[in-house]
Amino acid sequence: MNGIKITTIYDNIKSDARFQTDWGFGCIIDHPYARILFDTGEKPEILEANLKTASITPESIDIIILSHKHSDHQGGLFWLTQKNPNAKIYIPKTWNKKLETQLSQWTTNLHTIKDDFLLTKGLHLIVTENFSIREQTLAIETSQGTLVITGCSHTGVDHIAQKVQTTTKSNILAIFGGFHLLRSSKKEIVDITEKLKHMQIKRIAPCHCTGEEATEIIETQFGQNFIPNGAGAQFVFEE
Ligand SMILES: [Zn+2]
Ligand SMILES: [Zn+2]
Repeated sequence: MNGIKITTIYDNIKSDARFQTDWGFGCIIDHPYARILFDTGEKPEILEANLKTASITPESIDIIILSHKHSDHQGGLFWLTQKNPNAKIYIPKTWNKKLETQLSQWTTNLHTIKDDFLLTKGLHLIVTENFSIREQTLAIETSQGTLVITGCSHTGVDHIAQKVQTTTKSNILAIFGGFHLLRSSKKEIVDITEKLKHMQIKRIAPCHCTGEEATEIIETQFGQNFIPNGAGAQFVFEE
């Protein structure tokens, strides 16, 4: 296919009535290099149903990336690996030792990522960490700027965006995923939103753990450049 298509396949917010919702996150990125699933949601049966609705077979997924160790992002992985043992899997290094061992019985294609990693030219895994978690973000370079897919942003969405810009040396065209602001104070939300605006991020599509209040504030601040996101939402960009 021409261009890059992003489909939110698993989310607690609904964008398309045909899709099921549940707490968690997952999205498909159709890139000329590969079909990528970034995060797998929590419940395999919901992942399976939503993939079917989007006419995506488990066997057609080339790469699976897990942003971090929480169950609402990795719950669908075992089911998927059994359906498609050939998919390459990229997980952050401190992911989960027990699950890592179990998983290696199903696949020989498991890669643990400690530092920033280049999947191929223009496709980066950007690693951020704080005291308790290591999280990886997908950054996709395009002729118009970089597309960013984040899971829960436990390490701070502003920090992640900053690191993506420094690494790719280009501006962010759009950012998708959970911003983890659901327990943040109004002041924290406003501060982070301002930082994102100052980075001149063109379009913003928060979902999952962003929280209602934060989503409203971001929508007000970004106006026309806010894109509603949730299960079933689709976005197409030029390469
Ligand atoms: Zn999380
Ligand atoms: Zn989450």
